[in-house]
Amino acid sequence: MSKVKVAINGYGTIGKRVADAVALQDDMEIVGVSKTRPNFEAFIARDKGYDIYAPSDRMDSMKKADLSVMGTVEDMIDVADVVVDCTPGGVGAENKSLYEKHGVKAIWQGGEDHELAGFSFNAVSNYSEALGRDFVRVVSCNTTGLCRVISPLDKEFGVKKVRVSLLRRSADPGDIKKGPINAIVPNPVKLPSHHGPDVKSVMPHINITTTAVKLPTTLMHVHIVNIDFEKDCTEKDIEEVLSRQSRVRFVGQGISSTAEIIELSRDMLRPRYDMWENCVWNESISLYEKELYFFQAIHQESNVIPENVDAIRAMMELEKDGEKSIEKTDKAIGLI
Ligand code: NAD
Repeated sequence: MSKVKVAINGYGTIGKRVADAVALQDDMEIVGVSKTRPNFEAFIARDKGYDIYAPSDRMDSMKKADLSVMGTVEDMIDVADVVVDCTPGGVGAENKSLYEKHGVKAIWQGGEDHELAGFSFNAVSNYSEALGRDFVRVVSCNTTGLCRVISPLDKEFGVKKVRVSLLRRSADPGDIKKGPINAIVPNPVKLPSHHGPDVKSVMPHINITTTAVKLPTTLMHVHIVNIDFEKDCTEKDIEEVLSRQSRVRFVGQGISSTAEIIELSRDMLRPRYDMWENCVWNESISLYEKELYFFQAIHQESNVIPENVDAIRAMMELEKDGEKSIEKTDKAIGLI
């Protein structure tokens, strides 16, 4: 069977990682990536063998920089079965009519509203509901991290309510424009934060409220999770359920910070020190008056990458079983 043809529209933090993860799968291939500027990322993409496309008004600047371009973004869409839109939040919405005009399936990222695709995706939570869909939104890094733990715990013990405090990184490591660099910023000040409703876009029945602050760090987010369950359970039961999740990694062994998690990833020779899994401090798993508490760290640049691959597989109906897709994706990228 021929491979599914995938185009990446927007080759930045998320786009370049999705491209590399798709290229490692045996049932899909990259047919093009779009760049708006002939910067170092464009030349690296070319050197990796990706065909480069550009918006029509940017073709000249690419040619001037001696970067050969295969065609316009519209040309790229024409050769694709599915477009993964990784343009900055808000920009992706403008592309919807283009995808509709060309009759191509599309995936958006968490920076876009749920209503744009009409369906928000997380592999362990609702893979089967994505089968055959034309438009899917892969939820944000924080929402992905929350769904990965709430969904399996809900299936096992029934979630009564979830309360989460999110300690957010303020910028990605390559970003020189965002802050703060010396402050803690309640974000938003008006509570609750948007993360709870975003989890509900995947699992509408979950009672969840979230608060968030931005911190002067670029490495990872940290969540302080509190869950109240319907059924009685022990700390050991919780640990057992989470240990069965391939995209949850327990951290301990002297790891007491996000800095050491990143060092772990570098020692594991992960590409770009990506940590695709939620990192849960299993030592922190505590039940107090039947309520669960734990800490987890989320690598914002990479945790949504395997979910994008699974979303493609579901939309193209390459695999009907979510667990099998997750296993296939994880194996190909080196997560297992
Ligand atoms: P980014 O700024 O790193 O990359 C976006 C890329 O799109 C850039 O290369 C930019 O040049 C390009 N671009 C801009 N306008 C374009 C256009 N009209 N056509 C084609 N390309 C265009 O952004 P990002 O961090 O990769 O975020 C992309 C999406 O992923 C957003 O929705 C964001 O909310 C979401 N997301 C980001 C993170 C993260 O931590 N960075 C995590 C999860 C989800």
